[in-house]
Amino acid sequence: MNIKKYNSKVITKKSKSEGFGIFTDKNFKKDELVFVFSGKIVNWQKANYQSLQIGKNKFINPYKNNPGVYLNHSCNPNCFVKYPNKITSIKNIKKGEEITIDYSTTVGTKKWKMECLCKSKNCRKIVEPYLEISDKLKNKYKNHTSEYLLQ
Ligand SMILES: [Zn+2]
Repeated sequence: MNIKKYNSKVITKKSKSEGFGIFTDKNFKKDELVFVFSGKIVNWQKANYQSLQIGKNKFINPYKNNPGVYLNHSCNPNCFVKYPNKITSIKNIKKGEEITIDYSTTVGTKKWKMECLCKSKNCRKIVEPYLEISDKLKNKYKNHTSEYLLQ
């Protein structure tokens, strides 16, 4: 099996549902830095499915050796993006769990849509950009949304 170790904290390997994913290599407490999503800053023309959006027309394309390449979405995530690019735990996470964020807390591109197969109880099936999610969900994520979306 292809397992890549980045540091003492996370590894990437094949995930059950969605190709590769990032997994913890230790326990994390709530509000702890898990890893930094580092890469090249690009505009929308150069953005791709691995990019993290950090502004209206500003994205980070992760470096090939950054775990961000494999950051999957979940409708019941255990991490969020502490703006602009610190992947941080929302709750306590056990060693071996997959790291996920809710893409709706970072995506500001209108009409963007993604089918979701995360299998959470609260799975929305279709993931939409921040501006198109319900007020209830916006409220749930009020402390976990990328700041550029709140301006
Ligand atoms: Zn889902």
